[in-house]
Order: sequence, then C-alpha cells, then structure tokens
Amino acid sequence: MTSRKPIVAIDGPAGAGKSTIARRVAEKLGFIYVDTGAMYRAVAWKSLRAGVSLSDSDGITALAKSMTIRFDRSNGQRVFADSTDVTEAIRTPEVTRLSSPVSAISGVRRRLVEMQREMGTAGGIVMEGRDIGTVVFPDAEVKVFLTASPEERARRRQLELAEKGIESSLDDLAAQMRERDDRDSSREDSPLRQAADAAPIDTDNMTIDQVVEAVLRLCEERMRGCCSTT
Ligand code: C5P
Repeated sequence: MTSRKPIVAIDGPAGAGKSTIARRVAEKLGFIYVDTGAMYRAVAWKSLRAGVSLSDSDGITALAKSMTIRFDRSNGQRVFADSTDVTEAIRTPEVTRLSSPVSAISGVRRRLVEMQREMGTAGGIVMEGRDIGTVVFPDAEVKVFLTASPEERARRRQLELAEKGIESSLDDLAAQMRERDDRDSSREDSPLRQAADAAPIDTDNMTIDQVVEAVLRLCEERMRGCCSTT
C-alpha cells in the first residue's frame, strides 16, 4: 500500500475519446486531469513561433528545456506556454501536424516526461497520452487503453470540427489520423502501444457515459485497498 493517491493512466490513438473520458473520470474522482498531448503541442507551437526548423532536434530540445508549460484550472483548463495562453493556438491543423514529429524527439520526451512525473508525485491524477502506462507511470494503479476504429475516430473528429464551424472531408481526416498513428506507433522512443497490464476498451459502439462508467468501475476494482484516496 502506497501513501500517495492513485494514478489513472489513459492511453490510446488520436480521436479515441481520451480527453473527454479522462476529464470526466477526473471530475468524478475529484482528481487532477492532465492532457499530455497539450504539452507536446505547446512545444510544437513554440518551435513554430521561434522559427526553429523540425530538422533541428537540438534546437527544439533546447526550447522544450527552457520553456514552462502550465495548466490553469481556475477557469476551465487553460494551457500556458511561458506566460502566453495557447489553449486555442495549439489546436490549429498546423500545430496538430507538427506535434507528432516534435514528440518523436528524445530530448523533448525526456523533458516532458520529467515534468509529467513531477505533476503526479502526490497521485490523485488522471493523465492521458500515448505512453503514460508504459513509460511515465509504469506503476499506475489503473491503466486504460482506449481504441476505436479509424472510421469512427475520423467521424468524431469531423463532428468536433463542425461544432467549431470548420468543414472538413472525412477522407482527409482519416488520412491525417492514419499518418499520425503510424508515426506515433513506429517511433523508436516510447511508441504508442498498450501496456501489458492495461485494460483495453473499444469505444466504437459505446456512448461517452458508458465508457466513463466502465473506467470508473475499473478504478473501483483496482484501487480497492491499494492506496490512499484521501
Ligand atoms: O493527444 P494529442 O492528439 O493532443 O497529442 C498530440 C501529439 O502529441 C500526438 O500526435 C502524439 O504524437 C504526441 N503525444 C505523445 N505522447 C503523449 C501525448 C501526445 O507522443 N503522451
């Protein structure tokens, strides 16, 4: 039995519903929610802004080391790169495309994993990403691997964009997602893969509420007697 509160790790490919699910599970448990994808996006945003080219791994690593990334939870979930609020800026297609190759740079991963471990020192956290259960917190009490078919993931992304008034083609979205998945799964450092002890949940035919319920049930089972929840 550890004295820290539990850690819930949620991994999976783009568009599997990780953010929505992780946020709701955190709310229900009264835990802190951390979106690690936003951190890789913040580094991609900063390198664009600073004009550092993607081929300059050392330059991008130096940027990642020198910048602060902060979540402000007082007003929703705002993301700050140094003192700039980048919550919306990190969601543009340009930053989305760049975040995947930026996240394959080992120096960037080392720095962000260090920050993520610091955020989780006391536990009581739901962290979502690609490598949380495998690399960041291999000892997390609860590990979930969320998946959905490529068609369903592209459809969800299209709906999300439509809500923001952005029209998009399903074929283009599916192709972009495939490209990002391939790169995230085949990179040498911390590729996207399911941890051996993670529970896989295929969300294709499930509502958001059903997935949240399934994750909460798993938390209840795995946390029973394992660690402090107060
Ligand atoms: O989750 P999201 O799509 O916002 O992540 C943006 C990019 O950051 C992903 O395409 C992935 O390459 C990278 N990422 C990562 N490891 C994480 C979280 C995100 O490599 N833990």
